[in-house]
Amino acid sequence: EPQKNIILITGANKGIGFATARAFAQAGHTVLLGARDTCRGTAAAATLAADGLDVRFVRLDVTDADTITAAVELIETSCGRLDLLINNAGISRDRPHAPVGLPTDRLRETYETNVFGVVSVINTMLPLLRNSASGRIANVSSSLGSIASLSNPDAPIWQYANLLAYNSSKTALNAITLIYAQSLRSEGIAVNAIDPGYVATDLNGNAGHMSADDAGESVARELTKLDASVTGAFLTLNGETHLW
Ligand code: NDP
Repeated sequence: EPQKNIILITGANKGIGFATARAFAQAGHTVLLGARDTCRGTAAAATLAADGLDVRFVRLDVTDADTITAAVELIETSCGRLDLLINNAGISRDRPHAPVGLPTDRLRETYETNVFGVVSVINTMLPLLRNSASGRIANVSSSLGSIASLSNPDAPIWQYANLLAYNSSKTALNAITLIYAQSLRSEGIAVNAIDPGYVATDLNGNAGHMSADDAGESVARELTKLDASVTGAFLTLNGETHLW
């Protein structure tokens, strides 16, 4: 019987996070569905639980330290550990400015969620991850944050967007992924980034090529088959690694 993992996914009331929650729960794991809004989070968890899946709502606004602490206490009491933390919550606030003229507040707002939020969640959840025999962290990043792509004027990303706040927030997230991977290596806690590709969600006005359901299934598949020794990798949904 495969091990039943306890998996927390932030921003899981819709989009890729919700689909990832469903896929992991269908594989038999306990999914803690993180959402900042109680109504949206409860409804999303109820939808999955109605299919007989082990999915529980956890209120968690990644920009609100009190909710992160409360989530840790709830998970500590109910589960005692966390096997996999998926930092999925993210926002895109660049449009219609791109990039000249972008108000600095948009940058700040984007970083609060996509960058500082991830750091707060990781730091606060670490004791729970240490309670696991194989604690792991996966950060949902984007090729739009890849320095290898950003430094290449002919890279395919430029045909899509020139998003100062979003892209650079994912660049910071990539750096943060590598720094945590290195720092937690000796403890056996793996930290990786995963790029879901271009997925039709509210984040991009549903312009993506792939459905959220397909993306969620693929995220769950790639993270499940990933060898526990892999850390500091930038994964894609086709089993290959991405250039940082
Ligand atoms: P959605 O907009 O569909 O979902 C984003 C989720 O994040 C929502 O559940 C939202 O909650 C939540 N969220 C936003 N801010 C917070 C916060 N402060 N605390 C907790 N949750 C929050 O977007 P996607 O599903 O597309 O995005 C998921 C992740 O995938 C993001 O990190 C995104 O950057 C990344 N990604 C997406 C790609 C795509 O093509 N769609 C490509 C590459 C990466 P609420 O409903 O309350 O707003």
